[in-house]
Amino acid sequence: MRVVPVALGARSYEVRIASGLLGDAAAHLAPLARKRPFVIVTDANVAPHAQRLAAVLAAADLASETIVLPAGEGTKSWAQLEALLDRLLDLGIERGDHVIALGGGVIGDLVGFASAILKRGCNFVQVPTTLLAQVDSSVGGKTAINSRAGKNLVGAFHQPALVLIDPDLLDTLPLREQRAGYAEVVKYGLIDDADFFAWCEGNGEALLAGDPDARAYAIAHSVGAKARIVGEDERETTGTRALLNLGHTFGHALEAETGFSDRLLHGEGVAAGMALAFAFSARQGLCPQADAERVAAHLEASGLPHDLASAGITASGGRLVEHMLHDKKMDAGTLPFLLARGIGATYLDRHVDLAEVAAFLDEQPRP
Ligand code: NAD
Repeated sequence: MRVVPVALGARSYEVRIASGLLGDAAAHLAPLARKRPFVIVTDANVAPHAQRLAAVLAAADLASETIVLPAGEGTKSWAQLEALLDRLLDLGIERGDHVIALGGGVIGDLVGFASAILKRGCNFVQVPTTLLAQVDSSVGGKTAINSRAGKNLVGAFHQPALVLIDPDLLDTLPLREQRAGYAEVVKYGLIDDADFFAWCEGNGEALLAGDPDARAYAIAHSVGAKARIVGEDERETTGTRALLNLGHTFGHALEAETGFSDRLLHGEGVAAGMALAFAFSARQGLCPQADAERVAAHLEASGLPHDLASAGITASGGRLVEHMLHDKKMDAGTLPFLLARGIGATYLDRHVDLAEVAAFLDEQPRP
């Protein structure tokens, strides 16, 4: 088992990663048990894994109740939050109890937020089941739902008490979802770890084919990077944690243009967004063109969108910049951009000229 500590003082916790970990979950959860049954919250697609977890707990004389929510981004809503809170209150959950979030980023974000506000805060455990959630969203304590005004605009920082990652759970995850999660793996290399990007170039294909060693290494390395960044800047105040948003400003515009629909998954938007951030950096003379081409080539080889054409975007640069202006990352009227001096050398730039961004986007090939 690999253990990655997330060092946050009184809110510190461990991320435990091992193939087959779900089968051993009782040993990890037993120390957290109290007099009420554990509550497992999951979605309809993940329900078979929840059944298995319940059986594993039962075999160790640990009772549980399972709440199954609809799958999909729509579940991060006020209506589902209210229904979940009512169910948890009906079950008598107390502040010292641990609610188990078993699912992708949607379940993790919703259950995390419900836990942040239930009785002013109860405990929760993340058991992520998508690659995106295993390498990114289950660690770091950002929780949220979506509102009429946009995605993730209502939420809280609330750290889990424990994160249990079983890479074998990815065996049932559709390939398109694996690829979308893989974009976030590549992101850690691009941010500040050129060696890891090179590892991705050599091993990404094996990882996406389900190779257990490649998966375990990539997950542990990604979680280690996230834990380090979150440990330095838990609430995104110094700019360090903002590096995790590489590709997200361009990506957000593409996601908004496609209506946050299945046309472009979040990770796919991030992939195209990272390639665009590197291409824009190269155009501005900040980053070698060869690095931008290498980034796009690896994303393309991984079956991910890597420019506007492959993301299916026909909108003008001006329209895409309009979308960016509605992004929650707007800060005092300016839009911070993550740009690159090269692979593994990204930085936050608060003075990007949006007219230049629009002109750059207009130059990009369309489908
Ligand atoms: P998701 O939770 O919707 O999962 C994607 C799909 O895969 C869903 O249909 C789900 O039912 C299915 N699924 C999950 N696990 C499965 C499995 N093992 N086998 C088969 N199917 C499975 O989406 P996601 O990509 O995991 O997460 C996206 C969400 O995460 C977004 O809402 C995004 O805002 C959020 N997010 C949060 C953070 C954070 O730091 N909190 C970071 C990144 C993204």
